[in-house]
Amino acid sequence: MKIGSYELHSIETGSFALDGGAMFGVVPKTLWEKSIAPDEKNRIPMAARALLLVGDGRRILIDVGNGSKFTDKLKAIYKMDNSRNDLLTSLKKHNLTAADITDVVLTHLHFDHAGGSTFNENGTVKPTFPNAKYYVQREHWEAAHKPTERDRASFFPEDFMPLAEHGLLNFTEGEGEILPGITCRICNGHTSALQAPIISDGTTTLLYCADLVPTAAHVPLPWIMAYDLRPLVTLEEKRRILQKAIDENWILFFEHDATVEAATISMSDKGIVLREKIVVN
Ligand SMILES: [Zn+2]
Repeated sequence: MKIGSYELHSIETGSFALDGGAMFGVVPKTLWEKSIAPDEKNRIPMAARALLLVGDGRRILIDVGNGSKFTDKLKAIYKMDNSRNDLLTSLKKHNLTAADITDVVLTHLHFDHAGGSTFNENGTVKPTFPNAKYYVQREHWEAAHKPTERDRASFFPEDFMPLAEHGLLNFTEGEGEILPGITCRICNGHTSALQAPIISDGTTTLLYCADLVPTAAHVPLPWIMAYDLRPLVTLEEKRRILQKAIDENWILFFEHDATVEAATISMSDKGIVLREKIVVN
């Protein structure tokens, strides 16, 4: 898929699984299990799907998946599996190495989005992309340093502190342009100041939903994760942003859907529904 001067590729960084009840909040299992079937431990399969943009002399990644620093205990809890796909192997399919990446836009610093930012080399944690600038909302950076007891388990300082130590961090502030042709929406429901990138050339527009709409099953407005710090804020953000996506025929890119990469949506008498599934590359 091409938007403006960028060629877009979806990058599978590996699979994992999270508790289905936590992923669907107040929606009863009798409903959500029809959309995504859980495993024997009630976990649903999840992708950690990054987006690669190539063009204008840049090779940009949006989010980088879980990465490779987890203990065996955490890998088992989250069913992390990098055997079929991982970040660097997926980049290799596009003839790119870590050194080729020029920019990394992090939607937020939860481990399933930012974990791949760094890696452990003989006991030292280093930036995975040594030549890249990493873009993080300043307000989110500050929130990540003082999480509550409720969201502390989602932040691992070793995912992001080495970026600051190596001088690779670029703070973004608000909804302006992050890079040419890439703006963002700020969402405060899931966490503080999540930046959801929008790639547009005025004709085609793609929203990288991140955790505003983690899977295609989360398109209906009240299907909101229990992980969200402020679910009623998420509800209003979804109402506003998805209405615009319907009106302007945006493509929604789903970071966590195990099977559906992207789709357009429409309004039906039952609420918002998927219109057309889209494969990005
Ligand atoms: Zn996530």
